[in-house]
Amino acid sequence: MTRKAGSVVFQNVRKTFGAFTAIPDLSLTVEPGTLVTLLGPSGCGKTTTLRMLAGLEHPTSGRILIGGKDVTMLPANERDVSMVFQSYALFPHMNSLENVAYGLQSSGMGKKEARERAENGLELVGLAGMGQRLPAELSGGQQQRVAVARALVLEPQVLLLDEPLSNLDARLRRRVRTEIRELQQRLEFTAVYVTHDQDEALAVSDRIIVMKDGRIAQEGSPRDLYETPASSFIADFIGEANVVPCDIVAVSDGKATISIEGLRHVVPALSARPGRAKLAVRPSAITLEPADDAAFPGRIRHAAYLGDHIEYEAETAGGTLFIVDPSVDRLLSPGTQVGIGLKTRGIAIIAE
Ligand code: ATP
Repeated sequence: MTRKAGSVVFQNVRKTFGAFTAIPDLSLTVEPGTLVTLLGPSGCGKTTTLRMLAGLEHPTSGRILIGGKDVTMLPANERDVSMVFQSYALFPHMNSLENVAYGLQSSGMGKKEARERAENGLELVGLAGMGQRLPAELSGGQQQRVAVARALVLEPQVLLLDEPLSNLDARLRRRVRTEIRELQQRLEFTAVYVTHDQDEALAVSDRIIVMKDGRIAQEGSPRDLYETPASSFIADFIGEANVVPCDIVAVSDGKATISIEGLRHVVPALSARPGRAKLAVRPSAITLEPADDAAFPGRIRHAAYLGDHIEYEAETAGGTLFIVDPSVDRLLSPGTQVGIGLKTRGIAIIAE
Protein backbone atom coordinates (compact mmCIF):
# COMPACT_ATOMS: atom_id res chain seq x y z
CA MET A 1 0.00 0.00 0.00
CA THR A 2 1.13 3.55 -0.74
CA ARG A 3 4.09 2.42 -2.80
CA LYS A 4 4.44 5.63 -4.84
CA ALA A 5 5.73 8.02 -2.20
CA GLY A 6 6.09 11.45 -3.80
CA SER A 7 8.21 14.46 -2.99
CA VAL A 8 6.81 17.90 -2.13
CA VAL A 9 8.37 21.16 -3.26
CA PHE A 10 7.25 24.71 -2.48
CA GLN A 11 9.01 27.35 -4.61
CA ASN A 12 8.70 30.94 -3.38
CA VAL A 13 5.10 30.45 -2.32
CA ARG A 14 3.28 33.58 -1.19
CA LYS A 15 -0.23 33.68 0.25
CA THR A 16 -2.21 36.78 1.07
CA PHE A 17 -5.76 37.09 2.42
CA GLY A 18 -6.89 40.56 1.28
CA ALA A 19 -4.35 43.02 2.66
CA PHE A 20 -2.90 40.44 5.11
CA THR A 21 0.18 38.46 4.10
CA ALA A 22 0.00 35.07 5.84
CA ILE A 23 2.99 33.54 3.98
CA PRO A 24 5.48 36.05 2.48
CA ASP A 25 7.88 33.73 0.61
CA LEU A 26 8.06 30.03 1.48
CA SER A 27 10.40 27.50 -0.14
CA LEU A 28 10.72 23.97 1.19
CA THR A 29 11.33 20.37 0.10
CA VAL A 30 10.01 17.12 1.54
CA GLU A 31 11.91 14.03 0.38
CA PRO A 32 9.87 10.97 -0.66
CA GLY A 33 9.20 8.49 2.13
CA THR A 34 9.90 10.94 4.94
CA LEU A 35 7.68 12.45 7.61
CA VAL A 36 8.10 16.20 7.87
CA THR A 37 6.36 18.25 10.54
CA LEU A 38 5.28 21.86 10.25
CA LEU A 39 5.54 23.13 13.80
CA GLY A 40 4.94 26.57 15.21
CA PRO A 41 2.79 28.76 17.44
CA SER A 42 -0.82 29.55 16.63
CA GLY A 43 -1.17 31.76 13.55
CA CYS A 44 2.31 31.03 12.14
CA GLY A 45 0.87 29.68 8.87
CA LYS A 46 1.07 25.88 9.26
CA THR A 47 -2.52 25.17 8.36
CA THR A 48 -2.45 27.60 5.42
CA THR A 49 0.66 25.79 4.12
CA LEU A 50 -1.00 22.38 4.47
CA ARG A 51 -4.22 23.62 2.86
CA MET A 52 -2.26 24.94 -0.12
CA LEU A 53 -0.62 21.52 -0.45
CA ALA A 54 -4.05 19.86 -0.29
CA GLY A 55 -5.48 22.24 -2.89
CA LEU A 56 -7.98 23.75 -0.44
CA GLU A 57 -6.27 27.14 -0.87
CA HIS A 58 -4.24 28.41 -3.80
CA PRO A 59 -1.01 30.42 -3.53
CA THR A 60 -1.08 34.09 -4.51
CA SER A 61 2.22 33.42 -6.29
CA GLY A 62 4.92 30.75 -6.44
CA ARG A 63 4.75 27.07 -7.35
CA ILE A 64 3.89 23.79 -5.60
CA LEU A 65 5.09 20.45 -6.97
CA ILE A 66 3.99 16.99 -5.84
CA GLY A 67 6.03 14.07 -7.18
CA GLY A 68 7.70 16.50 -9.58
CA LYS A 69 4.39 17.63 -11.09
CA ASP A 70 3.26 21.27 -10.88
CA VAL A 71 -0.06 21.18 -8.99
CA THR A 72 -0.17 24.88 -8.04
CA MET A 73 -3.56 25.55 -9.56
CA LEU A 74 -5.03 22.03 -9.55
CA PRO A 75 -8.18 21.49 -7.47
CA ALA A 76 -8.00 19.21 -4.41
CA ASN A 77 -9.58 16.19 -6.09
CA GLU A 78 -7.00 16.19 -8.89
CA ARG A 79 -4.04 16.02 -6.53
CA ASP A 80 -2.65 12.74 -5.40
CA VAL A 81 -2.88 13.55 -1.67
CA SER A 82 -5.22 12.60 1.13
CA MET A 83 -5.75 14.35 4.39
CA VAL A 84 -6.42 13.25 7.97
CA PHE A 85 -8.27 15.95 9.89
CA GLN A 86 -8.23 16.85 13.56
CA SER A 87 -11.99 16.18 13.72
CA TYR A 88 -11.67 12.72 12.01
CA ALA A 89 -14.57 13.76 9.71
CA LEU A 90 -16.05 10.22 9.58
CA PHE A 91 -19.58 9.73 8.25
CA PRO A 92 -21.60 8.96 11.42
CA HIS A 93 -24.18 6.73 9.69
CA MET A 94 -21.61 4.49 7.98
CA ASN A 95 -19.70 1.76 9.77
CA SER A 96 -15.87 1.80 9.82
CA LEU A 97 -15.56 -0.46 6.79
CA GLU A 98 -17.95 1.68 4.74
CA ASN A 99 -16.14 4.84 5.86
CA VAL A 100 -12.81 3.44 4.67
CA ALA A 101 -14.28 2.02 1.43
CA TYR A 102 -16.18 5.20 0.57
CA GLY A 103 -13.33 7.13 -1.05
CA LEU A 104 -12.28 4.09 -3.08
CA GLN A 105 -15.80 3.51 -4.40
CA SER A 106 -16.33 7.15 -5.26
CA SER A 107 -13.13 7.08 -7.30
CA GLY A 108 -14.67 4.26 -9.36
CA MET A 109 -13.45 1.06 -7.70
CA GLY A 110 -15.91 -1.87 -7.64
CA LYS A 111 -17.66 -2.60 -4.34
CA LYS A 112 -16.01 -5.97 -3.73
CA GLU A 113 -12.46 -4.73 -4.32
CA ALA A 114 -13.12 -1.56 -2.30
CA ARG A 115 -14.32 -3.66 0.66
CA GLU A 116 -11.26 -5.90 0.46
CA ARG A 117 -8.93 -2.91 0.36
CA ALA A 118 -10.84 -1.31 3.24
CA GLU A 119 -10.49 -4.50 5.29
CA ASN A 120 -6.74 -4.45 4.65
CA GLY A 121 -6.67 -0.79 5.66
CA LEU A 122 -8.43 -1.48 8.96
CA GLU A 123 -6.06 -4.35 9.63
CA LEU A 124 -3.07 -2.04 9.01
CA VAL A 125 -4.21 0.34 11.74
CA GLY A 126 -4.98 -2.50 14.15
CA LEU A 127 -8.76 -2.46 13.76
CA ALA A 128 -9.32 -5.83 12.05
CA GLY A 129 -12.76 -7.10 13.08
CA MET A 130 -14.08 -3.63 13.94
CA GLY A 131 -15.43 -2.98 10.45
CA GLN A 132 -19.08 -3.24 11.46
CA ARG A 133 -18.89 -0.62 14.21
CA LEU A 134 -20.31 2.83 13.73
CA PRO A 135 -18.02 5.77 14.65
CA ALA A 136 -20.10 6.36 17.79
CA GLU A 137 -19.24 2.82 18.90
CA LEU A 138 -15.49 3.48 18.72
CA SER A 139 -13.15 5.35 21.08
CA GLY A 140 -11.57 8.63 19.91
CA GLY A 141 -8.27 6.87 19.20
CA GLN A 142 -10.03 4.15 17.17
CA GLN A 143 -11.97 6.77 15.19
CA GLN A 144 -8.74 8.53 14.33
CA ARG A 145 -7.25 5.20 13.22
CA VAL A 146 -10.25 4.69 10.91
CA ALA A 147 -9.56 8.18 9.49
CA VAL A 148 -5.89 7.24 8.93
CA ALA A 149 -6.94 3.96 7.23
CA ARG A 150 -9.38 5.83 5.02
CA ALA A 151 -6.64 8.20 3.86
CA LEU A 152 -4.03 5.43 3.41
CA VAL A 153 -6.14 3.06 1.28
CA LEU A 154 -6.29 5.75 -1.39
CA GLU A 155 -2.52 5.21 -1.72
CA PRO A 156 -1.75 8.91 -2.09
CA GLN A 157 1.68 10.21 -3.05
CA VAL A 158 1.56 12.30 0.11
CA LEU A 159 -0.46 11.87 3.30
CA LEU A 160 -1.37 15.13 5.04
CA LEU A 161 -2.14 15.14 8.75
CA ASP A 162 -3.64 18.26 10.32
CA GLU A 163 -3.23 18.15 14.11
CA PRO A 164 -4.44 14.52 14.01
CA LEU A 165 -4.11 13.92 17.76
CA SER A 166 -5.50 17.07 19.28
CA ASN A 167 -8.89 15.57 20.10
CA LEU A 168 -7.30 12.74 22.08
CA ASP A 169 -6.30 12.74 25.74
CA ALA A 170 -2.59 12.86 26.62
CA ARG A 171 -2.04 9.11 27.12
CA LEU A 172 -3.83 8.16 23.91
CA ARG A 173 -1.99 10.86 21.98
CA ARG A 174 1.30 9.19 22.79
CA ARG A 175 0.03 5.76 21.66
CA VAL A 176 -1.57 6.96 18.41
CA ARG A 177 1.47 9.06 17.47
CA THR A 178 3.67 5.96 17.88
CA GLU A 179 1.26 4.01 15.68
CA ILE A 180 1.26 6.68 12.97
CA ARG A 181 5.06 6.86 12.97
CA GLU A 182 5.44 3.06 12.87
CA LEU A 183 3.00 2.82 9.98
CA GLN A 184 4.79 5.60 8.08
CA GLN A 185 8.18 3.92 8.55
CA ARG A 186 6.86 0.48 7.63
CA LEU A 187 4.98 1.60 4.50
CA GLU A 188 7.49 4.38 3.70
CA PHE A 189 4.90 6.89 2.60
CA THR A 190 5.56 10.63 2.46
CA ALA A 191 3.75 12.53 5.19
CA VAL A 192 3.38 16.21 6.04
CA TYR A 193 2.21 16.59 9.61
CA VAL A 194 0.98 19.79 11.25
CA THR A 195 1.17 20.26 14.98
CA HIS A 196 1.80 22.95 17.56
CA ASP A 197 3.03 20.35 20.08
CA GLN A 198 6.82 20.18 20.14
CA ASP A 199 7.00 16.79 21.88
CA GLU A 200 4.81 15.31 19.19
CA ALA A 201 7.01 16.87 16.49
CA LEU A 202 10.21 15.53 18.10
CA ALA A 203 8.68 12.06 18.46
CA VAL A 204 7.34 11.48 14.95
CA SER A 205 9.49 13.48 12.51
CA ASP A 206 12.41 12.85 10.19
CA ARG A 207 12.60 16.63 9.80
CA ILE A 208 10.86 19.50 11.52
CA ILE A 209 10.15 22.84 9.85
CA VAL A 210 9.56 25.43 12.56
CA MET A 211 7.49 28.35 11.32
CA LYS A 212 7.05 31.82 12.77
CA ASP A 213 5.06 34.65 11.17
CA GLY A 214 4.69 32.75 7.89
CA ARG A 215 8.44 32.12 7.55
CA ILE A 216 10.74 29.21 8.32
CA ALA A 217 12.50 29.99 11.59
CA GLN A 218 14.67 26.84 11.34
CA GLU A 219 14.45 23.39 9.83
CA GLY A 220 16.33 20.20 10.56
CA SER A 221 16.19 16.84 12.27
CA PRO A 222 14.75 16.74 15.79
CA ARG A 223 18.29 16.41 17.13
CA ASP A 224 19.61 19.37 15.05
CA LEU A 225 16.89 21.63 16.35
CA TYR A 226 17.26 20.54 19.95
CA GLU A 227 21.06 20.53 20.09
CA THR A 228 21.87 23.48 17.84
CA PRO A 229 19.00 25.96 18.00
CA ALA A 230 19.65 28.96 15.75
CA SER A 231 17.75 31.47 17.87
CA SER A 232 16.32 32.08 21.34
CA PHE A 233 12.88 31.43 19.84
CA ILE A 234 13.85 27.91 18.67
CA ALA A 235 15.76 27.16 21.89
CA ASP A 236 12.71 27.92 23.98
CA PHE A 237 10.14 26.45 21.57
CA ILE A 238 11.88 23.07 21.06
CA GLY A 239 12.26 21.97 24.65
CA GLU A 240 12.72 24.58 27.31
CA ALA A 241 15.90 26.61 27.59
CA ASN A 242 17.43 29.29 29.77
CA VAL A 243 18.85 32.00 27.54
CA VAL A 244 21.90 33.40 29.32
CA PRO A 245 24.25 36.19 28.15
CA CYS A 246 27.90 35.12 28.06
CA ASP A 247 31.34 36.08 26.73
CA ILE A 248 33.07 33.84 24.24
CA VAL A 249 36.67 34.03 25.40
CA ALA A 250 38.40 31.75 22.90
CA VAL A 251 37.52 29.45 20.01
CA SER A 252 39.59 26.52 18.72
CA ASP A 253 39.03 23.04 17.23
CA GLY A 254 35.25 23.42 17.11
CA LYS A 255 35.10 24.31 20.80
CA ALA A 256 34.52 27.63 22.52
CA THR A 257 35.58 28.68 25.99
CA ILE A 258 32.82 30.80 27.42
CA SER A 259 32.49 32.84 30.55
CA ILE A 260 29.22 33.48 32.36
CA GLU A 261 29.68 35.90 35.22
CA GLY A 262 33.14 34.46 35.85
CA LEU A 263 32.21 30.77 35.39
CA ARG A 264 34.38 29.34 32.61
CA HIS A 265 33.09 26.49 30.53
CA VAL A 266 33.90 24.78 27.23
CA VAL A 267 31.06 24.11 24.77
CA PRO A 268 30.95 22.72 21.22
CA ALA A 269 30.82 25.59 18.73
CA LEU A 270 31.12 25.27 14.98
CA SER A 271 31.11 28.91 13.96
CA ALA A 272 31.43 31.05 17.07
CA ARG A 273 33.60 34.17 17.32
CA PRO A 274 35.02 35.73 20.47
CA GLY A 275 32.81 38.44 21.95
CA ARG A 276 29.39 38.79 23.58
CA ALA A 277 26.90 36.00 22.79
CA LYS A 278 23.94 34.14 24.22
CA LEU A 279 23.82 30.60 25.49
CA ALA A 280 20.84 28.26 25.43
CA VAL A 281 21.13 26.14 28.55
CA ARG A 282 18.71 23.25 29.01
CA PRO A 283 17.21 23.00 32.51
CA SER A 284 18.73 19.52 32.87
CA ALA A 285 22.22 20.76 31.90
CA ILE A 286 22.60 22.72 35.14
CA THR A 287 24.00 21.14 38.30
CA LEU A 288 23.55 22.47 41.81
CA GLU A 289 26.64 22.30 43.98
CA PRO A 290 27.69 23.54 47.41
CA ALA A 291 27.96 27.33 47.51
CA ASP A 292 31.49 27.42 48.94
CA ASP A 293 33.83 29.34 46.66
CA ALA A 294 31.43 28.90 43.73
CA ALA A 295 32.48 30.67 40.54
CA PHE A 296 28.83 31.21 39.74
CA PRO A 297 26.72 31.62 42.84
CA GLY A 298 22.95 31.37 42.96
CA ARG A 299 20.11 31.31 45.45
CA ILE A 300 17.13 28.91 45.29
CA ARG A 301 13.93 30.85 44.92
CA HIS A 302 11.45 28.05 44.35
CA ALA A 303 11.47 24.24 44.50
CA ALA A 304 8.83 21.76 43.28
CA TYR A 305 9.05 17.99 43.90
CA LEU A 306 7.69 16.11 40.85
CA GLY A 307 8.36 12.47 41.71
CA ASP A 308 11.19 11.61 39.32
CA HIS A 309 12.82 15.04 39.37
CA ILE A 310 12.81 18.36 41.20
CA GLU A 311 12.26 21.67 39.47
CA TYR A 312 14.08 24.69 40.84
CA GLU A 313 14.21 28.35 40.09
CA ALA A 314 17.48 29.95 41.11
CA GLU A 315 18.40 33.60 41.08
CA THR A 316 21.85 34.36 39.70
CA ALA A 317 23.75 37.35 38.34
CA GLY A 318 22.92 35.99 34.84
CA GLY A 319 19.17 36.08 35.58
CA THR A 320 16.68 33.55 36.95
CA LEU A 321 17.48 29.98 35.89
CA PHE A 322 15.02 27.12 35.55
CA ILE A 323 16.67 23.86 36.62
CA VAL A 324 15.58 20.23 36.43
CA ASP A 325 17.44 18.11 38.97
CA PRO A 326 17.15 14.30 38.79
CA SER A 327 18.53 13.84 42.33
CA VAL A 328 15.30 13.58 44.27
CA ASP A 329 16.93 12.45 47.51
CA ARG A 330 17.60 16.04 48.50
CA LEU A 331 15.20 18.94 48.30
CA LEU A 332 16.89 22.33 48.56
CA SER A 333 14.63 24.82 50.27
CA PRO A 334 14.05 28.37 49.08
CA GLY A 335 16.81 30.69 50.27
CA THR A 336 19.58 28.04 50.02
CA GLN A 337 22.82 29.41 48.54
CA VAL A 338 24.18 27.16 45.78
CA GLY A 339 26.98 27.02 43.21
CA ILE A 340 25.79 26.71 39.63
CA GLY A 341 27.62 24.17 37.49
CA LEU A 342 27.16 23.20 33.85
CA LYS A 343 27.23 19.78 32.21
CA THR A 344 28.87 19.24 28.83
CA ARG A 345 25.67 18.38 26.96
CA GLY A 346 22.60 20.55 26.63
CA ILE A 347 24.39 23.86 26.09
CA ALA A 348 24.54 25.70 22.77
CA ILE A 349 25.73 29.10 21.62
CA ILE A 350 22.97 30.85 19.73
CA ALA A 351 23.52 33.39 17.01
CA GLU A 352 20.65 35.77 17.73
P1 ATP B 1 -3.27 27.45 14.40
O1 ATP B 1 -2.25 26.61 15.11
O2 ATP B 1 -3.94 28.42 15.33
O3 ATP B 1 -4.22 26.65 13.57
P2 ATP B 1 -1.72 28.15 12.05
O4 ATP B 1 -0.25 28.21 12.26
O5 ATP B 1 -2.25 26.94 11.42
O6 ATP B 1 -2.45 28.45 13.41
P3 ATP B 1 -2.98 29.56 9.90
O7 ATP B 1 -4.35 29.03 10.17
O8 ATP B 1 -2.25 29.02 8.75
O9 ATP B 1 -2.08 29.44 11.20
O10 ATP B 1 -3.09 31.15 9.76
C1 ATP B 1 -1.98 31.97 9.43
C2 ATP B 1 -2.43 33.42 9.44
O11 ATP B 1 -3.32 33.65 8.34
C3 ATP B 1 -3.20 33.81 10.70
O12 ATP B 1 -2.82 35.11 11.06
C4 ATP B 1 -4.64 33.74 10.25
O13 ATP B 1 -5.42 34.67 10.99
C5 ATP B 1 -4.57 34.12 8.79
N1 ATP B 1 -5.63 33.49 7.99
C6 ATP B 1 -5.80 32.16 7.77
N2 ATP B 1 -6.86 31.93 6.98
C7 ATP B 1 -7.40 33.14 6.67
C8 ATP B 1 -8.51 33.58 5.89
N3 ATP B 1 -9.27 32.72 5.24
N4 ATP B 1 -8.74 34.92 5.84
C9 ATP B 1 -7.93 35.80 6.47
N5 ATP B 1 -6.87 35.45 7.22
C10 ATP B 1 -6.60 34.14 7.32
